[in-house]
This record gives sequence, C-alpha cells and structure tokens, in this order.
Amino acid sequence: IFINSIESMFPDRGASNSILLANINDFSNWSRLSSLWPLLYGTSCCFIEFASLIGSRFDFDRYGLVPRSSPRQADLIVTAGTITMKMAPSLVRLYEQMPEPKYVIAMGACTITGGMFSTDSYSTVRGVDKLIPVDLYLPGCPPKPEAIIDAVTKLRKKMARENYKGQTYRHTRKKYFSLNHRLHFVP
Ligand code: SF4
Repeated sequence: IFINSIESMFPDRGASNSILLANINDFSNWSRLSSLWPLLYGTSCCFIEFASLIGSRFDFDRYGLVPRSSPRQADLIVTAGTITMKMAPSLVRLYEQMPEPKYVIAMGACTITGGMFSTDSYSTVRGVDKLIPVDLYLPGCPPKPEAIIDAVTKLRKKMARENYKGQTYRHTRKKYFSLNHRLHFVP
C-alpha cells in the first residue's frame, strides 16, 4: 500500500509531504490492533477489575478498545470470572458468533484452571481452554487493571506479527468445543 498526502489524515502533526510505505499485511495488522473491540463478558468478581478499565482512571479507550455488547461487533473476549458447566454452551455460542479474526484472553485463576473450584466442584469448567482457544493467560485473583493493560499490550504485539493469510487459522488450528457436542469433556 502506498499512501501519499497523508497531511489530510494528520493535519496537526506536521505530516505534510510525508510518504507512508507499508505492505498489506502490516497495514491490516496495524488497523486491527488499533481497533480491538472487546466483548463485555464477566461472570464473577474478576469482571469488577475489568470494568474499572472503562472509566477515566485507566482510559482503556486510548488503545482503541471500545467495549461492545454484541459478539458480532467484537474481536476480543476477555473471559473474566468463573465459567460454569451450565454457562459453557453460551460462551461457545458467543465465541462462534464473533467474526474472524478473533482473540481470547483468559483472565484470572478461576477461568484458567477453575481456581478455588478446581478440586471439589462438580459444576465448574477447569480451564476455559477446554471450550475455546486461548491466546493469552492472565493469572491472578483477581489480576489488577494494570495487568489487563499489560496483557492487551502483549496481545497487540502478537497481532502485529501475524500473517495476513493466516488470520482464519482458528477453525483448523484446534478443534474446540462445539455446540453440536454435548458436555462430554472432563471438567
Ligand atoms: Fe473471583 Fe479470584 Fe476467581 Fe477472579 S480468580 S473470579 S477474583 S475468585
């Protein structure tokens, strides 16, 4: 991609007579990581920390992260909180409704391993990666908002290195839990 006269794009930054050279892969990655829209998905206490990011103190929007209520408008889901067996099909349905390419951050001990429910609970999924593919694990109980920002920064770096042709890899990379299957995995 060859962009000339980007003065109109950045009129206040002295960008006149500048030329921007980029290949389609880098340009696509740059635009995607600059508008990473997360789905609002919170199941328990971890989400309180995530919700604080939306306020003015942390100003999450500065990264281009605008929380969405519809999975069809989101390309990131941060699973914040405990995932129960009853909730598993709904989570998978939400994930499948998100357009490709899409990303998952598993936030907190309960999401990653079942946390305090990982030993005796009959109702908790012991690891969200049994349901959907996870890009980044964010441990903690709960992780601080600063840790979430750090996780998103790492995800953005990962996105910057992706291959444009490889963006639809998820359907073939891992066979994840499907709505067509019953809950037959070991929780
Ligand atoms: Fe709550 Fe801790 Fe579990 Fe997060 S990891 S949902 S803060 S108990």
